[in-house]
Amino acid sequence: VWSLAIDLAAEVATVLYYMAMSWACLFLLGFTLRYTGHDITTPRIKWTFYGLALIDNIATALNLLFHHMFTISEAAYKGESFVAVQNKWPFAIHAAFLYVLILGSIFLLVRRLMTVSREYAMKYSSVLTVLVFVVLWNFFFTFLHTTVINNSVFGYCIMGLMIYYFAIVFVPNSLQEHILSKLVDELEEGVVFIDPEGKCIYANESAERLLHTGGMEMEERNMEIHAWLKGLRIDLKEDIIAIRSVDMEGTNRHLEIEHQRMYDHRGGYIGSLIRLIDHTKDINELNDQRYRATHDSLTGLLNRDGFYEAVAGALEANPHIRHMMVCFNFKDFKYVNSFFGMSRGDEMLISAAEEIRSHLQEGDILGRLYADNYALLTRKDNFDEWKYRDYIRLFARRIVENTYTVFIHMGVYEISDPTMDVSVMCDYANLAIDTVRNDSSNRIAYYDTHMMDRVMQEKEIISEFDEALRNKDITIYLQPQVTRDGALVGSEALVRWKHPVKGMISPGTFIPVLEENGIIYRLDRYVWEQAAQLLKSWKGTDKENLYISVNISAKDIYYMDVQETFLEFKEKYDIDPAKMKLEITETAIMYDVDRYINLVRELHKHGFEVEMDDFGNGYSSLSMLKDIEIDILKIDMAFLQEAETKKRGEVILRNVITMAKDLGIPVITEGVETKEQVALLTDLGSDMFQGYFFARPMPVADFEAQYFPAAEEDAAGANNLKEGAAGAEQGERDQAG
Ligand code: C2E
Ligand code: CA
Ligand code: CA
Repeated sequence: VWSLAIDLAAEVATVLYYMAMSWACLFLLGFTLRYTGHDITTPRIKWTFYGLALIDNIATALNLLFHHMFTISEAAYKGESFVAVQNKWPFAIHAAFLYVLILGSIFLLVRRLMTVSREYAMKYSSVLTVLVFVVLWNFFFTFLHTTVINNSVFGYCIMGLMIYYFAIVFVPNSLQEHILSKLVDELEEGVVFIDPEGKCIYANESAERLLHTGGMEMEERNMEIHAWLKGLRIDLKEDIIAIRSVDMEGTNRHLEIEHQRMYDHRGGYIGSLIRLIDHTKDINELNDQRYRATHDSLTGLLNRDGFYEAVAGALEANPHIRHMMVCFNFKDFKYVNSFFGMSRGDEMLISAAEEIRSHLQEGDILGRLYADNYALLTRKDNFDEWKYRDYIRLFARRIVENTYTVFIHMGVYEISDPTMDVSVMCDYANLAIDTVRNDSSNRIAYYDTHMMDRVMQEKEIISEFDEALRNKDITIYLQPQVTRDGALVGSEALVRWKHPVKGMISPGTFIPVLEENGIIYRLDRYVWEQAAQLLKSWKGTDKENLYISVNISAKDIYYMDVQETFLEFKEKYDIDPAKMKLEITETAIMYDVDRYINLVRELHKHGFEVEMDDFGNGYSSLSMLKDIEIDILKIDMAFLQEAETKKRGEVILRNVITMAKDLGIPVITEGVETKEQVALLTDLGSDMFQGYFFARPMPVADFEAQYFPAAEEDAAGANNLKEGAAGAEQGERDQAG
């Protein structure tokens, strides 16, 4: 009975073992399917396999009744008795089922291994190896029968555990580690880990590259890294995040450094993690950008923004030091470009920058605000007006251009409030320049508060100009021009602005403002049209023979087609062009000789005559006369007064008049105020006169009433102006007084 019971227990155990093996292999396949990412099973396949396993189980269980799969017998080995299992052929079906499942798993693993990247190979190869061992193990016990006792089941258990370990614990961890260290290795930032003893236990590739420790021995590398830490001012006792600039093999590098002390979960120090990020390229780029944003590419000086910023910083840093803002400006620099070309202009700007830079003193800041405008912040104690006058004079002498005299103006503003906007300080210094802009005798001007009033006044002029034209507050006065016998031949139209509130505004006040703002052409067009209308109204009367001279501003040619405008009025008012004379100043002509040569030629074609106004005021009077076909030369007496001695003035005047005569050009002298002047000029050969001695500019109505009192009167008598005649007492005397 006892032996039967043992047999039965052995048989039941074997049946359970076989049944369990089926499920174990089936689940193994399920596991590998998921593990390898091949989970393509549909419920139908799944249930088919479950069904097969169930059939296998039932078939195995039936062994208890039919003993068709195996039988149990007693065996003796080395004097001990064992239970022996003898498999019969149907067992092969069960075994085959298991083999299909296991080989299926192996197949899936192999297949996956072939396609997976090296980093992940371990994940599959570990499990695969175990499975191959399982198969070999099984082979060994099934076919080789080297031992009598089949304890292969222990092997399966161990291998099962191994699969569990590889699949669930070891491989994921090592993969994670592997991938992480790969990540760190490939990081662009350098990573260094230093243990509590101060040894570097890890440095990734970037760190090695950055610190040049690649290929070094442990000891050497340690020392090198510690030298670095010292150089970067990293103290391993405290955490930091900072940007440090270091000199590395001759180049300055900017490193972002993060040092972090690491602790375990109990708070014990386990080492220092150091991250190094090389920002050199970014920072250099940023610096470049900043440099470009704050510096002028032509001269290398600070540009406007850079200058403002630097000055604000300097004034804030030294609030107790008195400073001056000095601006430098070339006189009429705009003509340099058109005369000599852009590159010559650039050269001049560069040499001026170098010149000023070469005299910089401690604490000075120099910049170029725009074009030919330089600004210098200097300490009041360092500033010596006369030194600068000398520098500039000598500089001008070095840079010589035939027809252009280099002349640099300086405007100075003593900074009273260092917190004031820097742009305003520069504006003030430049305002000072504006007051001497047309002055060739004075190089330097200091800002005073009246200058601001002037700016306000200019603003008013601009804003009120249009309305004044519309309201006819702007009109023309006529100033007679007479022959040496005092006979009236014509007049000059001079503009007048009668402001409803401010009274008479002198052309000397508003004309430069309109010129600077580019709207003088509108005034001139208006004046010319008035003159044309007047000429038309005189047609068929005793005034028919009088001409009117109108003024052309130097700026007109840049803003309008002068010739077209005159043609337009000629047509519109049907006037004789010979009665309309154009006064162009010598200075205007000088700036654009070719253009005026053409303009004069065209005007001549259409019958207009041209006077050269203010002759003698310009720079290079005489040579120009041979190029430009001027009809009349107008000499300003003011020019005589500027001559150092009366005698000298007379000599020049005599020569000019003689030369004009030789060229066949008639001469008119303006600004004649005394009997003596008339006598002298007559003697020198002046043909015509205009001046207070004969008459002041007067309203058109007065002009007509005075010279043509009644249509019936003897024209010749009325037309004659006697020296010191009533005209001189009337006209503009009141305003001129
Ligand atoms: P300008 O063309 O040289 O005009 C002559 C100036 O000398 C006039 O001043 C006139 O009143 C003044 N004058 C005449 N006789 C004498 C005299 O005996 N002694 C003195 N000291 N001065 C005398 P005004 O009218 O104040 O004009 C000043 C300047 O304004 C003119 O100088 C001219 O350049 C400009 N201007 C006047 N009207 C116009 C205009 O319609 N268009 C343009 N573009 N400029 C004009
Ligand atoms: Ca004139
Ligand atoms: Ca004049």
